[in-house]
Amino acid sequence: MVFTDSHAHLCLDSFDADREEVLQRARDAGMRHLLCIASLARDLDATREFSEKHPDVFFAAGLHPHDARLWDDTLRQRLEGILSHPRHLAIGEIGLDYHYNYSPPEQQRAAFRAQIQMARAHRLPIVIHTREAHDDTLRILDEEKAAEVGGVFHCFSGNQAMADFALERNFKISFSGSLTFKNAESLRQIAGAVPRDVLLTETDAPFLSPHPHRGKRNEPARVVEVVRCLAQLRLVDPETMGELTTRNFEAAFPRLIPA
Ligand SMILES: [Zn+2]
Ligand SMILES: [Zn+2]
Repeated sequence: MVFTDSHAHLCLDSFDADREEVLQRARDAGMRHLLCIASLARDLDATREFSEKHPDVFFAAGLHPHDARLWDDTLRQRLEGILSHPRHLAIGEIGLDYHYNYSPPEQQRAAFRAQIQMARAHRLPIVIHTREAHDDTLRILDEEKAAEVGGVFHCFSGNQAMADFALERNFKISFSGSLTFKNAESLRQIAGAVPRDVLLTETDAPFLSPHPHRGKRNEPARVVEVVRCLAQLRLVDPETMGELTTRNFEAAFPRLIPA
């Protein structure tokens, strides 16, 4: 089976003891591509170096909404400086998170807008994080004309209206282990019904372990559980779903050079 993890934070310190083994386990399970998400404020250099070492690892860089209060000229220049790196595929993750509000909502919106503008200027797709901020997220995406670059709604947890918005504007929808949770029936309905060419899979490792590993450190090999769940919903076999979501990933990130 072949599959892709479109979103993982492998350079956070929870993988310091065994990062290479974790990557190897994912490869042994069939992983074709891994998109590592680097935070400008935390692990950008480590993530860039990790992707340079491994032909199947790419990265996206951005300022997470949790850290949006840190957005300034220095971080803008750090981001600007990494955008043409050949293994950098997208700006992200960026967006709005009103659940925790670790940064004031106004600063979240400002950093989100500024990074979408950079993505448009450089013709790079974006990776969107949105939590309890759906209306503002969609409004800003439209006001900033994000459809020009497209990208991914990561760890999709929206409703049908948000799925429709994504489809109409050139965005893929990435499902994580939360798709497998018992209380995710409405999410599974959406996942079962959207057009097949928008489906992506991810772990968001080390977060969000799928059932039956819920609560433990997540890792890219566990994308298999998400692929299986999607396959069941779409009435195809897991191999077909793994290939489909891998092709969709390649289509979502034009800079990707297939390994
Ligand atoms: Zn996120
Ligand atoms: Zn993430």
